Amino acid sequence: MTYQANCPICQAEINLASDTQESEVITCSDCQSRLVVDKVDMDRVDLSQAPEVEEDWGE
Ligand SMILES: [Zn+2]
Repeated sequence: MTYQANCPICQAEINLASDTQESEVITCSDCQSRLVVDKVDMDRVDLSQAPEVEEDWGE
């Protein structure tokens, strides 16, 4: 099973893997916004826009 959520930016429906966990960061396939998983409920996930962080992801 998958979770369903709506992108807070573009309202697109997003399907998330069933092992999605809180505070996981995903990318909206529609608007490419970085979103953080706020809360995982029974079959719903709340998303909010991930803060822009100046972390260096590369090596
Ligand atoms: Zn979006």
